[in-house]
Amino acid sequence: MTGTVVKSTGSWYLVRSHTNGQLYKCRLRGKFKNKGLKVSNPIAVGDEVTMEDEGEMHQGVITQIAPRRNYIIRRSTHKAHHAHIVASNLDQAFLVVTLVSPRTSFGFIDRFLVTAEAYDIPATLIFNKIDLYDQEALNYLSQVVQLYGQIGYACFTCSAHTGEGLPQVRELLTGNVTLFSGHSGVGKSTLVNTLVPDLELKTSEISAFSDKGVHTTTFAEMFEVGPDTYLIDTPGIKELGVVEMKREEIGHFFPEMRERLNQCRFHNCLHVNEPGCAVQAAVKQGKIALPRYESYLSLLHEEDSHR
Ligand code: GDP
Ligand code: ZN
Repeated sequence: MTGTVVKSTGSWYLVRSHTNGQLYKCRLRGKFKNKGLKVSNPIAVGDEVTMEDEGEMHQGVITQIAPRRNYIIRRSTHKAHHAHIVASNLDQAFLVVTLVSPRTSFGFIDRFLVTAEAYDIPATLIFNKIDLYDQEALNYLSQVVQLYGQIGYACFTCSAHTGEGLPQVRELLTGNVTLFSGHSGVGKSTLVNTLVPDLELKTSEISAFSDKGVHTTTFAEMFEVGPDTYLIDTPGIKELGVVEMKREEIGHFFPEMRERLNQCRFHNCLHVNEPGCAVQAAVKQGKIALPRYESYLSLLHEEDSHR
């Protein structure tokens, strides 16, 4: 039968069976190779696997892993070329942001969006705390929502305190694996707890599976919040793992630049001061928002400084 890995300790894996909905504590059989990537964990949370029931109660063996649609990694701080797969097969990534108390910077938002693009995970912006916004802040909010909406990013506004906008956000979660991210203080925890009040109950079923008396470190866990509905909680971009990007690639992760890249005179244009650059022209014409272009430049310079 097949199932989804919902918890990993590195020595065993908890798999939710697609056949009967039960949880199985599984070991691995055979070698699991990850093409082109040196990873410390062959199987990650979110992986779709084939397993064999071992006959004993809720024990199994993972024999195969289905190709991943996407995955996020964390690089090892000790070994430069080693990475750890945090989670795979994500349907979407939510960034919770606030424009007041605290104000999330464009730089932070854009870096998240670029990372999500690089990982091939659709990103959505959730503007929280709208109960705190005065008229001026609301005007600003609608400009920002328009800016990101035009690029193609879904934007939702809500208040975890008043409940406004929450049904729409909840609907987005249903049936999906969602990564929740956000700067501390934006209300991510409040939001998650309000969206899924029975989160703790669901989590405890998974947490109940542990080796008695043996201290095991949990690498990552997906929170099961409903049928086929999972949340992955991660504090920020650092936790999301920094994707290594070539300088020439960065423009591809800005959708509004991506569609213009083949119009630049030079195929290796970096869109800084090259002649015949379609990106610079679009910025001048206001077709690419200046803050977005500035975020692009700062990412470009950062990659420069790594050289
Ligand atoms: P996290 O660091 O992102 O997990 O933020 P928390 O969930 O801990 O929230 C930070 C603070 O913001 C807390 O004092 C929350 O009560 C408050 N907060 C969260 N959501 C809202 C909201 O929608 N409106 C208002 N006014 N405050 C909120
Ligand atoms: Zn260019």
